[in-house]
Amino acid sequence: MRLDDEQESSNFEIQRGGGMGRGFGGGGGGGNLLGLLLPLIGSKFGCWGIAIVVVLMLVMGGGGGLGSLLGGLTGGGTSMSPQQQTQQADPGELTDIQRISLKVLGSTERRWEDIFAANGSQYPAPTLVFYDRNGMSGCGAAQSAMGPFYCPADQKIYIDTTFFNDMKNKMGIPGDFPIGYVIAHEVGHHIQTITGTANKVRQAQQRASQEEGNALQVRMELQADCYAGVWAARDTNLMEPGDMEEGLRAAHQIGDDTLMKAAGRRPVESMFTHGSAEQRMAWLKRGLQTGNPASCDTFSQDL
Ligand SMILES: [Zn+2]
Repeated sequence: MRLDDEQESSNFEIQRGGGMGRGFGGGGGGGNLLGLLLPLIGSKFGCWGIAIVVVLMLVMGGGGGLGSLLGGLTGGGTSMSPQQQTQQADPGELTDIQRISLKVLGSTERRWEDIFAANGSQYPAPTLVFYDRNGMSGCGAAQSAMGPFYCPADQKIYIDTTFFNDMKNKMGIPGDFPIGYVIAHEVGHHIQTITGTANKVRQAQQRASQEEGNALQVRMELQADCYAGVWAARDTNLMEPGDMEEGLRAAHQIGDDTLMKAAGRRPVESMFTHGSAEQRMAWLKRGLQTGNPASCDTFSQDL
């Protein structure tokens, strides 16, 4: 991914003072719960949560900590600690990975500004929030295990600062293009929010069965994947040889079936909330090949 010419976005915040909360140690017997909890985790933890929970479970030898992890999330005490505050950071303090993230965000801003302008409207850019282990979002507590997520209520993207290292070292997703893919996917959810798609889907989900609701969620996620591809396709300097393969490999690794298999489960399609490896790869590729958001209508096409 070539980002040398990209200007870093200034739409970011840094939350400090996290890391006071519970660890993931202790607990027990959570492994058996995984099958029951995967859908819940999917909805509660956002896009990358399942991947991280599966990784945590593998790292902890079968998931000893899942019970306490969920206990921590559903229990009280998730409010922002008194010391925790959001600050505008001195750009000199940013880490390399934060700088890369902000270049990607800046690039998404310019691409989506163009697309919105072509339709005679203005693009309201989202804010990227870096937090450290325990943060607070307009959608409730932000915790590392949730992975990067977009909160529609405050139109901000939340990323734990260690996520990208984990993605490489623990989830086996190498390369730098996946960083762009992750951020551009969250920006995709922002697009769905400001265009009203997310709202319509949420309303439909309220009337739907669990299974139908999951199927709608899959269409949302695949559309965000496609939008990520649209961004990459329209930044003509961005893609280097191998980037497409890196992105597709990442999309494969976070497919619901891949993750369920990694957790020792038989993949069950009705429980998917993000799409299969094959679907995620296909829709990312669709965006990459067309560069046109209109090609990302996952709601009226076969997946
Ligand atoms: Zn998502």
